[in-house]
Amino acid sequence: MKKTPMEEWIIKRTGISPANQNELMTYQLKKIVETLSYAKKNSEFYQKQLAGIDPELIKSWDDFNHLPFTTADDIKNQPFAFLCVPQSRIDRIVTLNTSGTSGNKKRIFFTDQDLQKTVDFFDYGMRSLIDNTDRVMVLLPGQAYGTIGNLLKKALDRTKTACVVYGLLNDLDAVEKTMIENKINCIVGIPIQVLYLSRIKQAGFKQIEKVLLSTDYVPQAMVTELDQKFGCQVFNHYGMTEMGYGGGVECQALNGYHLREGDLYFEIIDPDSGKPVADGVYGEIVFTSFNREAMPLIRYRTGDIGAFSQATCQCGTFLRTMKKVEGRMNNRIKLDDGVCVDLKELEEILLTVEDLVDYQVTVKDKRLLRIDVSFYHEEQSVQKEQQIKTRVLKYFDENCELSIQVEVEKNQLQKPDQLVNSMVKRKIVDLRREKEDE
Ligand SMILES: [Zn+2]
Repeated sequence: MKKTPMEEWIIKRTGISPANQNELMTYQLKKIVETLSYAKKNSEFYQKQLAGIDPELIKSWDDFNHLPFTTADDIKNQPFAFLCVPQSRIDRIVTLNTSGTSGNKKRIFFTDQDLQKTVDFFDYGMRSLIDNTDRVMVLLPGQAYGTIGNLLKKALDRTKTACVVYGLLNDLDAVEKTMIENKINCIVGIPIQVLYLSRIKQAGFKQIEKVLLSTDYVPQAMVTELDQKFGCQVFNHYGMTEMGYGGGVECQALNGYHLREGDLYFEIIDPDSGKPVADGVYGEIVFTSFNREAMPLIRYRTGDIGAFSQATCQCGTFLRTMKKVEGRMNNRIKLDDGVCVDLKELEEILLTVEDLVDYQVTVKDKRLLRIDVSFYHEEQSVQKEQQIKTRVLKYFDENCELSIQVEVEKNQLQKPDQLVNSMVKRKIVDLRREKEDE
């Protein structure tokens, strides 16, 4: 098995020698101290947040673990206070769709140098699954400068790998035609869109050997289906705009991500106590960026659920492995008697209905769940609705002995790029929450 190309890249980038976990962590701590000084000096937000903290006195991981967290709300409330460079030096601003009612939007800023670092990561990250004999299609936005598709194309151009940036899946026929004409054998896209494409355009999908899924966590049911139906190797990428799009990518062991550790330091914390958890234990993923000019982030709480693997990876790297992300913390909702609904669990059930292309789960009441579903084919939809209802009820019966009610309703099918789950991270809507967050 090929060792993750991330290792070679990180060694080159950090200059660590000998190349091992200890040396890497020493490098990271040094970089973090630099970032603290830089952020405190240049950003209004960190000037306040780190008042009373002398970066030079951060000498150990224990010292670091006492630093305050940065949250999504901090960015939403005052995005410009995070800026460390004049606005004239900003080359790309990403405004993230958030569903809160406050009207504040999360804005993430990048300089050209920040974007180049992402290109560098994409270049080496993609080598985990392809070489320059492969032909890649990107089903992510890519028209404008500094968009994810645009950066990915720049990365693949470096190795002269054929790459078509199509954009989001909007027209199934046009995408299939592009795939066939360009002899595409690798797709990069959003999980639910790629699944949609594979379910409807099976003829075009037959030539696909590798898939890289990004922007949202990936249900196991999806990986299994793509593998069994098309023999695809399914790689997961973990990242978010706040990280500079890219965070980590699976190696050929397909058993969790190797992380962009030359630019980011990752932690897993207990979401209640804020304390780091042991390897193997699930908690909230937190990261600190270094080498970021426009908008460094220190101990940023992602809201994603993850864990570090205890075992070393089969590929033989010294790098840590993060297990596949389990979804969002907000997607774990308490029902009656302390029973939790986890969107991830429900999704594994929903996705086994092969005709399903979109869904929305809503908690209406402490014992009432509503599931809206869209099928590609209209026929037998009553039976399919019933099938979903039976499976979900069985799940609750077997797992929590809680009698809950489940309503399943069929929605009209939308175009692929207008699906509920198409663009934003998938989530449960909880009508009991006054204000809904992303
Ligand atoms: Zn590996």
